[in-house]
Amino acid sequence: MSLDGTYDDGNIFAKILRGDMPAARVFEDDHVFAFMDAFPQARGHVLVIPKHSRARNLLDEEPERLATLMQGVQRVTRAVRAALSPDGIVVTQFNGAPAGQTVYHLHVHVIPRWEGVALGRHGAGMADPEELKALAAQIAAQIS
Ligand code: AMP
Repeated sequence: MSLDGTYDDGNIFAKILRGDMPAARVFEDDHVFAFMDAFPQARGHVLVIPKHSRARNLLDEEPERLATLMQGVQRVTRAVRAALSPDGIVVTQFNGAPAGQTVYHLHVHVIPRWEGVALGRHGAGMADPEELKALAAQIAAQIS
């Protein structure tokens, strides 16, 4: 998928937002929805997405929506830190398949990192849904 294209209402994150697919929810407000990545690159890998958006990537998004998205990202990142005490946290976002994008609803990755622990492969093994739910609750408890 290139940088240009039409928003597909059947994408996985649109289904999650409609409640047609399950997700381990971490946080939600009027603007954003945050949930555990099902194929985490590290323990506590969270995705933050705009709720009322048909942007496939950063380039598509209304500038005003980026402010509320990043406010949500910061809240989640702070909660991940408080819940899991990582040594560092990667906040990243991919645009187009050559950049690593696989789901075409704008999203931001929040990935905790620990000294000496290698980053897992992007989109590798699926996590245990029960473990994800427990992590989601742990992080959600630290949202302020
Ligand atoms: P990207 O490659 O930046 O488009 O990121 C998409 C992310 O969505 C990847 O990290 C996948 O592991 C994750 N993912 C794919 N399907 C699901 C799902 N059903 N629930 C949660 N995360 C998912």
